[in-house]
Amino acid sequence: MTLQAQAQVHYEQDLATSADVLVVGAGVIGTSCAFALQAAGRSVLVIDPKGVAGETSAGNAGAFAFSDIIPLATKGMLAKVPRWLADPLGPLTIPPRYLPQVTPWLIRFWRAGWPDKIQASIRAQAEMMRLSQAATDWLVQEAGIGSKVGTTGSLELYESENEYRASLPAWAEREKQDIAFEHVQGTALAEVQPGLSDRFYAGTLVPQWRMVDDPYSYTVAIAAAAQARGAKFALGAVNSVRRSGEGTEVSLQDGRTLAARQVVIAGGAWSNKLTTQLGDRIPLETERGYNTTLPSGAIELKRQLIFGGHGFVISPLEIGVRIGGAVELGGLNIGPNFARADAMLKKAKAFLPDLKIEGGKQWMGYRPSLPDSLPAIGHSRAGADIVYAFGHGHLGLTQSAGTARLVTQLLNREAPSIDLTPFRPQRFALFAR
Ligand SMILES: Cc1cc2nc3c(=O)[nH]c(=O)nc-3n(C[C@H](O)[C@H](O)[C@H](O)COP(=O)(O)OP(=O)(O)OC[C@H]3O[C@@H](n4cnc5c(N)ncnc54)[C@H](O)[C@@H]3O)c2cc1C
Repeated sequence: MTLQAQAQVHYEQDLATSADVLVVGAGVIGTSCAFALQAAGRSVLVIDPKGVAGETSAGNAGAFAFSDIIPLATKGMLAKVPRWLADPLGPLTIPPRYLPQVTPWLIRFWRAGWPDKIQASIRAQAEMMRLSQAATDWLVQEAGIGSKVGTTGSLELYESENEYRASLPAWAEREKQDIAFEHVQGTALAEVQPGLSDRFYAGTLVPQWRMVDDPYSYTVAIAAAAQARGAKFALGAVNSVRRSGEGTEVSLQDGRTLAARQVVIAGGAWSNKLTTQLGDRIPLETERGYNTTLPSGAIELKRQLIFGGHGFVISPLEIGVRIGGAVELGGLNIGPNFARADAMLKKAKAFLPDLKIEGGKQWMGYRPSLPDSLPAIGHSRAGADIVYAFGHGHLGLTQSAGTARLVTQLLNREAPSIDLTPFRPQRFALFAR
């Protein structure tokens, strides 16, 4: 992945000793921030040891899921947890040795599922999605990358009447937010996606669902467009960030130091190392996800298929057919268990009997996740010149352009487009206001 990025994005060898805005992390969040900041007249340096899209942003399912406004910790979802956990290769696993570490996060996750929290979370997420949709239109147009995004729609599938009925309250919430969808059954379902197994009872179409052709090359294209406007990219790992006089001093692992007027921390699932140094203890965990990308032609797909009851999706991408999802609360250091990718592939074959499952490439990525399914976007406790932009969980691609707009507004001391209170990085602190 990194080699392809190097072919299209030039990495600075000799770093200047100072930067106007330094962005830590070149995933889709950091790269989109760089583009928006540069477009707003700022001068940006992005730094990442893996290069552009070297981690999670490379291998995701490629959807702009603007209709996904329901937090994960709903009553319906929590009810499925015992069944899911009972299956070691099911939609949710926690490696036993990681359980003690993740328990505080799980308690907050459970608390996020209380009715008062859910309603507030849906309102905030719906606002963020409206902003993100408009900001994506802007970014795609400004960066000249319209050909990389298509409105193909999505189809969520249910295997039983019970499963279908259980989904209806969430669709009612979306209706309140003016999100368009259509339930389909019987022969209509077969027309919407030919070749589906007859085990499916019903489906829901979201016609406005958009997809990128490939999340990796989408991120690289944004980086290249930012670079064409003067943004700089460098390879390197940031070891420490600290306030110093009027600005911020940043030290890299290789011993180099930089002075930056302002800093954006967009380090995805790894952001906590730096935010802790800055005085913010944020309950960031990673929901690891797996997939297999099959060669193009593995199946004819009209749109993304979502198997909510099984926790995975099948995405038609330009680079092939990607089958994946699942959540493994396993932290950053335990090795991958690709039997999870195999298990989803096996299910996909049962759901689409014509699927050719040979020649796939497996991958694991680290979703950066906060317990309430909302990202952390806001100032650091250390000062207004350090802004956090991470924790987008399942929705980082979807909310990348919206986040970039908000980060630009925060750094330029402009009023943010939406109320950022629900996204405050410090909202989980014991005495958070
Ligand atoms: C299986 C799967 C499917 C998904 N599908 C979708 C989808 O369809 N739609 C969607 O919207 N989202 C999806 N997501 C989620 C999405 O991929 C993530 O939310 C998003 O990629 C997060 O972007 P990011 O830039 O925050 O993190 P990353 O892409 O992980 O980037 C963070 C970067 O920061 C760098 N970094 C970390 N620490 C430092 C440091 N100290 N110094 C310098 N650099 C540092 C890392 O090297 C990394 O490159 C999916 C995720 C998975 C796993």
